Amino acid sequence: MSYYPLTSIPDYYGIDALLTEEHKLIRQSVRDWVESFVMPQIDQAAQNHTDIPGLMKELGKIGALGPYIPVEYGGSGLDQISYGLIMQELERGDSAVRSAASVQSSLVMFPINEFGSEEQKKKYLPQLAAGEMIGSFGLTEPNHGSDPSSMETYFKDMGDHYLLNGAKMWITNSPVCDIAVVWAKNEEGKVQGLIVERGMEGFTTPETHNKWSLRASKTGELVFNDVKVPKENLLPGVTGLKEPLSCLNSARYGISWGVIGAAIDCYCTAVQYSKERRQFGKPIGAFQLQQKKLAEFLTEITKAQLLCLQLGNLKNDHKASPAQISMAKRNNVKMAIDIARESRQILGGMGIMGEFPMMRHAANLESVITYEGTHDVHLLITGLDITGINAF
Ligand SMILES: Cc1cc2nc3c(=O)[nH]c(=O)nc-3n(C[C@H](O)[C@H](O)[C@H](O)COP(=O)(O)OP(=O)(O)OC[C@H]3O[C@@H](n4cnc5c(N)ncnc54)[C@H](O)[C@@H]3O)c2cc1C
Repeated sequence: MSYYPLTSIPDYYGIDALLTEEHKLIRQSVRDWVESFVMPQIDQAAQNHTDIPGLMKELGKIGALGPYIPVEYGGSGLDQISYGLIMQELERGDSAVRSAASVQSSLVMFPINEFGSEEQKKKYLPQLAAGEMIGSFGLTEPNHGSDPSSMETYFKDMGDHYLLNGAKMWITNSPVCDIAVVWAKNEEGKVQGLIVERGMEGFTTPETHNKWSLRASKTGELVFNDVKVPKENLLPGVTGLKEPLSCLNSARYGISWGVIGAAIDCYCTAVQYSKERRQFGKPIGAFQLQQKKLAEFLTEITKAQLLCLQLGNLKNDHKASPAQISMAKRNNVKMAIDIARESRQILGGMGIMGEFPMMRHAANLESVITYEGTHDVHLLITGLDITGINAF
């Protein structure tokens, strides 16, 4: 359970008035679920470096997997602001929970829905939406992270099947996935997407151990050693690197909202603590230095909320550019990690304890500021958009 009363969640600029009743209902139901299912066990899961048992099925039950995927394929057909609000509430619980929903929704269901055949959509999407099947997304490789265009994973056309070789690294949910959407080059060097299923010979998913970040999420590799992939597992709508990058845009948009949730959790905890903890005969919230921190947190959260809401409107109208999404991802993750670090100080020694969420959020956000395009890479995207000059 949260340390603070949920009624204290900030809406300083009356942004709720810009949401529909449906948006607010969705947010409240995810908030309630996070409070009852995630909060009581997240500290233990993170401390023990284990994932939350049954998480994906629970996420499926509350409609958090592929919320914007059409109803006919098991999704909820919701708009982009609903998706964002769901991500915000999940990440108030933990970035690992939001990452699980982000990967399944934006990096596995989205490409199958956008670039898959009718048979692929019918075969995979309903099970993915229910959390009965877990998906992973393989783009990053040991030698190629920020520069996926140089990927080495490749496949050959063997007539009645494809033969896939290579390796992917840092893959969320790889050790527990049933399928992986894998990006690999064909014999002409063109990037294509393949659906690889657990059980295919030569396909292994070793786990990456000893992370200090996203400890309640499984991360690992996808290794392909002469894997025979049936031809019907190729995503027919993929023309090159553009398509995997469009998946990242969808996921980055969700991250921009999600990290506001982590920041809210830290902010609300710090406000409450600052009113209760007394030093020098006064609550520490009476000291100007501590008030400065709280005032800046609220200002930054409010700015991030407004950025996301307008980005959501643009996204609903199919007008959000990749550079606009980069700006929101970069700004909001930095906002959240700064708030997590600074708010921890308001709690003094108590801030390092698992009863309070700051250390966990701050450590998680070290991954979030790196994955889906690093902080610096998103700056370069904005720089390119301003000047037209590629500084990569
Ligand atoms: C917990 C976790 C989960 C992840 N999940 C997934 C997943 O599910 N699927 C997936 O495909 N990937 C995943 N990733 C991988 C993630 O997207 C990459 O880590 C990220 O893209 C950065 O790549 P890299 O780690 O190889 O760093 P590098 O690309 O080696 O970058 C190292 C540093 O160099 C900087 N840099 C690189 N190029 C430039 C340049 N041109 N100019 C200036 N600076 C530059 C970067 O900003 C960074 O600071 C995950 C990562 C983590 C940590």
